[in-house]
Amino acid sequence: MHIVVLSRNAKLYSTSRLVEAIEEAGHKATVLDHLKCDIVSEKDNPCIYYRGTKVTGVDAVIPRIGASVTFYGSAVVRQFEMMKVFTAVDSQALVRSRDKLRSLQILARAGVGMPKTVFTNYSTEVKKIIDSVGGTPLIIKLLEGTQGVGVVLAPTQKAAESMIQAFHSMKARVIVQEFVNEAKGEDIRAFVVDGRVVGAMKRKGKEGEFRSNIHRGGSTELIKLTDEQRRAALIATRSMGLSIAGVDMLESDRGPLVLEVNSSPGLEGIEKATKKNIAGKIIAYVERKVTQNRARTNKRRRVKSDA
Ligand code: ADP
Ligand code: MG
Repeated sequence: MHIVVLSRNAKLYSTSRLVEAIEEAGHKATVLDHLKCDIVSEKDNPCIYYRGTKVTGVDAVIPRIGASVTFYGSAVVRQFEMMKVFTAVDSQALVRSRDKLRSLQILARAGVGMPKTVFTNYSTEVKKIIDSVGGTPLIIKLLEGTQGVGVVLAPTQKAAESMIQAFHSMKARVIVQEFVNEAKGEDIRAFVVDGRVVGAMKRKGKEGEFRSNIHRGGSTELIKLTDEQRRAALIATRSMGLSIAGVDMLESDRGPLVLEVNSSPGLEGIEKATKKNIAGKIIAYVERKVTQNRARTNKRRRVKSDA
């Protein structure tokens, strides 16, 4: 098989591990920078050019699209879908997962627990917003932030009011969220591949930091999920239409609360914490899907020629 990893940088840990795993499984790996892909649309002939050369003979694509290039990256993934190439992340699901508000709406509908959250169209009823998440301390998040940047803690009523007003006056889209104090600066990352949790870790924020992101200096620890946490991670992933995801949860008095579902979850933290070959699990999933799809296409062809 020829498997393409869409990534801006072949040297990144996740990208190089995926390439390694593809080659270990005996397949051909190519890294393409999605921002250097040209999308050519024409009746019945969708194609992609990479640095001027037509991309052909690809069996599967593993998108590793950064949050800052979701628009173009998802268009490239969609084009591969048009070319009937299997993509490990569906383009629609990718776009969906990048919008924190839309994600929370979908998760709520699926019955997944989450911190109480408010989103408004720059409402001036700031006190009401604060009341509706149970007062302060509370969390304010930029809708499209990532890696902990754009997540702030407002400790008091005064701080919360002025921060919400400031974000609104800048026309920044934010969500206001109940602060889950019991989480104690820790969160849980469950790595899901094809309906199974293949690895889980606890992330702990550095001293005095409520954000547990590794990019903010957080440390990791191997954990075993409770049944409730595993269920929440799997339902969250499925409801977002993803097959591969990193689900972030907080542990609270009322069970696991899902914060977000990442569609390009990093491999470094989870592989190091679990000492597992997670990249290999992703490639095994891609192999299964490509083989399944091939069998299906062949069957369809046979039925057609019989008719
Ligand atoms: P990002 O996309 O930037 O990672 P998150 O929503 O995952 O944004 O928040 C970053 C971190 O901040 C989380 O991993 C968690 O440790 C902490 N955090 C986020 N929301 C809450 C909350 N409602 N209560 C307590 N801690 C939170
Ligand atoms: Mg996060």
